[in-house]
Amino acid sequence: MKKLHKKSIYVTKSFLPPIKEYQEYLSKIWHADKITNQGPLIKELESKLCTYIGADYLHIVNNGTIALQLALNALGITEGEIITTPFSYVATTSAILWERCKPVYVDIDSKTLCIDASKIEAAITENTRAILAVHVFGVPCDVEKIEEIANKYGLKVIYDGAHAFGVTYKNKSLLSYGDVSICSFHATKLFHMVEGGCVIAKDSFIDEKLELIKRFGHHGDEHCILGINAKASEFHAAMGLCNFKYLKNIFKIRKKISELYDDELNESICIPQTDKDTEINYSYYPVLFDKEDRLLKILNALNKESIYPRRYFYPSLNLLPYLNDKKKCPISEDISKRILCLPLYVGLKEDDIKNICRIINNAYEN
Ligand SMILES: *Cc1c(COP(=O)(O)O)cnc(C)c1O
Repeated sequence: MKKLHKKSIYVTKSFLPPIKEYQEYLSKIWHADKITNQGPLIKELESKLCTYIGADYLHIVNNGTIALQLALNALGITEGEIITTPFSYVATTSAILWERCKPVYVDIDSKTLCIDASKIEAAITENTRAILAVHVFGVPCDVEKIEEIANKYGLKVIYDGAHAFGVTYKNKSLLSYGDVSICSFHATKLFHMVEGGCVIAKDSFIDEKLELIKRFGHHGDEHCILGINAKASEFHAAMGLCNFKYLKNIFKIRKKISELYDDELNESICIPQTDKDTEINYSYYPVLFDKEDRLLKILNALNKESIYPRRYFYPSLNLLPYLNDKKKCPISEDISKRILCLPLYVGLKEDDIKNICRIINNAYEN
């Protein structure tokens, strides 16, 4: 008899709408006879997202990394130091480097895992231009304190809100904070358009600049400014529009899975995410162990059962090999060695979740 092959479980799995619904959009694309360059579906999705987020100015672009680069560029930041967090996906730092700026790392708060706002002032120099902070796993940064510091020193604030879609803070979308916020709509994120992202601006001047630089920096034959190609296609917008309809359900299912983890897992490794001002989005389920050895042991036990969580985020970005000067960030370096994100996606089965918890609890207690 053939041995039954167990299906692998990864940290995430892209949500796919019923294929028929995507096909209906394909027909619309063929009918409109326009496949890119700000077609009707991109416009429709932009308008839906503006309403959903409560944004005045929003541009859909082809990924979240270029969104960060456009944010820096549109704010006129093409050199100097950017205060940022070491605890994020590498794209937060690479966007800064790609825009020829220097990342200056400020260590994180051990509870929120976001940049520690009380340590920002000490890192400001005459070359500091902006603060680029991340709402890690959808948990808000200390947006009030960051705004206060930015105003005091005349700095711009950019939020990498790649994890923050659907989060509200004080009854407003978390993506409406800062001079510019960005989001990623990559296939691995809770809302996606295969590849994509958006830039959200507060100011009409920044909005106009984004409009120009996202498509090569020219109006017809009039070349005004250095631009890039950050456009997303109608096919990507179609996926976004299909998925948008399922948002409520996506949040509901992710909440249910997260609560099951809360109930089943050894309490000491769970990270509480609730806060009275915040409505969270259940974008990730991180667990924190007491030491790296234990994390590695548990990772190994899970891998043996074809379960593959991810070490988000590891390594701490201040240790990237291609950085010139390495600054120490002890809290981020410590947490990045001990944190693991567990599988969390629509379609993950209750039995599999319980099995994951059993393996973790067993390995944890031994
Ligand atoms: C995913 C992610 C990005 C990059 O988004 P892409 O759309 O994949 O380019 C940036 N920052 C953070 C924190 C992310 O998780």
